[in-house]
Amino acid sequence: MQNQFENTILELEKIGKIIKLDKSVLEKIKKPDRYIEVNFPVQIKNNIKIFTGYRVQHNNQRGPYKGGIRFHPEVDLDEVKALALWMSLKCAVVNIPFGGAKGGVIVDPKKMQTQELDNIMRGYAKAIADIVGPKQDVPAPDVNTNAGLMDVFLDEYKKYLRKNKMNMKNAQAVITGKSIQKNGSRGRDIATALGGIYVLDKIIKPQTAAIQGYGNVGYNAAKILHERGCRIVAVSDSQGGVMKISNFKYQMSNQFQNSNDKFKNSLNPEEVMAYKQKTGSVVGFLGTKKISNSKLLELPVDVLIPAALSEQITKKNAGNIKAKIILELANGPTSPEADAILRKNGIIVVPDILANAGGVTVSYFEWLQNMKNEKWDEDEVFKKLKLIMQKAYRDVEEKSRKYGISLRQGAYALALERLV
Ligand code: NAD
Repeated sequence: MQNQFENTILELEKIGKIIKLDKSVLEKIKKPDRYIEVNFPVQIKNNIKIFTGYRVQHNNQRGPYKGGIRFHPEVDLDEVKALALWMSLKCAVVNIPFGGAKGGVIVDPKKMQTQELDNIMRGYAKAIADIVGPKQDVPAPDVNTNAGLMDVFLDEYKKYLRKNKMNMKNAQAVITGKSIQKNGSRGRDIATALGGIYVLDKIIKPQTAAIQGYGNVGYNAAKILHERGCRIVAVSDSQGGVMKISNFKYQMSNQFQNSNDKFKNSLNPEEVMAYKQKTGSVVGFLGTKKISNSKLLELPVDVLIPAALSEQITKKNAGNIKAKIILELANGPTSPEADAILRKNGIIVVPDILANAGGVTVSYFEWLQNMKNEKWDEDEVFKKLKLIMQKAYRDVEEKSRKYGISLRQGAYALALERLV
């Protein structure tokens, strides 16, 4: 895999020249403020195993460091550094008072029991407890981590405070994406997907969608789009993809159907999720044919949503992409070479640092509620989320028009100007 941190810095340097940015701003961004590697013991079955994790604190000029914790066998420091940099840019794009950070633990969650994953999170929390805090660094969920694991992190952090006789005030704001019972925010679970769709609303009302990745983000995107009448043509996970059989025949005869029929030719996201929970994958879902992840990316749909891992759209497949719009809910799904090809082919790419910023935005709402001891209802959360996401889109679009650059470059320009 290419070094995504370096790639992003190269892109930022290009934009820096276009917007005549003071060089010192980029010099600061080129190096994360701090990063640590932690090696901690966890009991797995009857053995003690040492796990390795990272926390990268990229930049806190605009507020406390903020960024998720990823559990994945391929986590490495370069990846975490890139993800932390993107968080600094993302928080600036949506104009929330946070900086950027990211964490990761090298572990294959598929090989672990729930209790073992809890213990790994405890070990990691203990190892980084002295560098996090509500006003210092606030983690959140990312790939393979969820509300339950955020609650575990909080519990371990509170133990650390108690043990060291430290102030417990606002301790719950040390981490976001918690369960509602532990004062998580309403709406956080769907915020990343919904935030992206609020942006999409400003560009297109898609009739068809294909979604790569069927976890928190991919599933919720499928569900929200489906509820709005968009046909979910294909979805995938790490085992492969499924495509609704005869979808394209129906697409052609769509005009003959009455409106009640419109869902007939779509995958039903909730049924697919129930099937995935039962069998471990979307593959094999009734009424579908199996397709590869690469085929899914090349389907002729209105919107293609990468919602899995990075570097999925590269110079090898970018030329085959037929979607009108790519909504990057995943972080870093498109390589810079692919980006240029897509642009040449007239495909609109809504860049990750804008498209998936709904997650960190509602994380900010959760942090605010925790700091002020408030509880907002879901309507209030979504109303505020919509305002922030659509304003961010307008700001990004304005930059891209002003400088004659892509939306991604516009988002970089906006973020850099706000990081000055
Ligand atoms: P998740 O762990 O809930 O789901 C990830 C999904 O991707 C799973 O269905 C997995 O099977 C699938 N997957 C893994 N490898 C794949 C492959 N090679 N091809 C196709 N599918 C594959 O993670 P998530 O929280 O939904 O995050 C997904 C993406 O969204 C990540 O890039 C993450 O950084 C980004 N993101 C998440 C949030 C959030 O709030 N959770 C916020 C911003 C960005």
